[in-house]
Amino acid sequence: MTGSAPQPPRRSALLRAATAVAVVVPLCTAGWLGWRAMDDTGPAGATASASPIVTPFTTPAPAEPPTGTPLTPPVAPPPSTEAAAATPAPTPSETPMATPAATPEKPPAPQTPADLTGRTVLLDPGHNIRNSAHTAEINRQVDIGNARKECDTTGTETNAGYTEAEYTLDVSRRARAILAARGAKVVLTHDGDRPWGPCIDERARAGADAHADVAVSVHGDGGPASGSGFHVIMPARVVAGKADNAAIVDPSHRLGLLLRDRFHAATDEPYADYIARDGLDTRSDLGGLNLSTVPKVFIECGNMRNSTDAKRMTDPQWRQQAAQGIADALTAFLTTQ
Ligand code: ZN
Repeated sequence: MTGSAPQPPRRSALLRAATAVAVVVPLCTAGWLGWRAMDDTGPAGATASASPIVTPFTTPAPAEPPTGTPLTPPVAPPPSTEAAAATPAPTPSETPMATPAATPEKPPAPQTPADLTGRTVLLDPGHNIRNSAHTAEINRQVDIGNARKECDTTGTETNAGYTEAEYTLDVSRRARAILAARGAKVVLTHDGDRPWGPCIDERARAGADAHADVAVSVHGDGGPASGSGFHVIMPARVVAGKADNAAIVDPSHRLGLLLRDRFHAATDEPYADYIARDGLDTRSDLGGLNLSTVPKVFIECGNMRNSTDAKRMTDPQWRQQAAQGIADALTAFLTTQ
């Protein structure tokens, strides 16, 4: 769950080790497996290692050479371990930094700029822990432009009884703390301080009421137990009755892509495999999107009815990662175009 530290890089050194000692230690080829598993997103050139580590396992490894990464040195045909015995190693030098990166480094992943001073974010924690005690109030129908819908719903929960409303409020508070530390003004549609609701039309209006630049509604899904993953819901264009969200469709789409990517990066949560496509959905039946006049999306952070997702969503450390992903997406939205 927690982000693990990168493995010590050892690709070039291992290549040398495999070439140099192939005759003596024919079992060393098992080390290729570890080589091939290296993360290739790290800084180019960070491949030097002073101590080749060869796993002691005797699992026969395929004779194929590793591909896709510049090797040192540029030997012509990749030798098999037997061929290496007959071919003198052409590199006298043991300097593992002989091969600089052939291409410029990729631009580093944008580290979110800290200054959101003057910007306002609306966070909407889905549902309310107390809604179940106020069914009459939350079942009242409200106008969402193209339909009428319940004022609010109770939301879902895990098998162990951890409710969606608890989850959404906790993650929203965590995201608020991150964004506030970056200078943003953060407004929540509720902060565990209301007996029920608010209704979805009030949640939608809250963005405009707060003069927010952007809004995210936080949810956990109640999908089939066999399905897992997260997805982001973007507004379809709805111009009907009191709804006219035409102006927010495009910016909300940009927000949706950022949120999909940043949430995935922060949590390792896969895209939903039971709904949406590539982690993205577009809907016209959500009052919170139909009636919003500021760019807004929903995120279903996982499927609380799925045991794997439930375990994650119940874990405070994972919720912090979820909040980080949401805060980073909002920060990126506000600082890029
Ligand atoms: Zn929900």
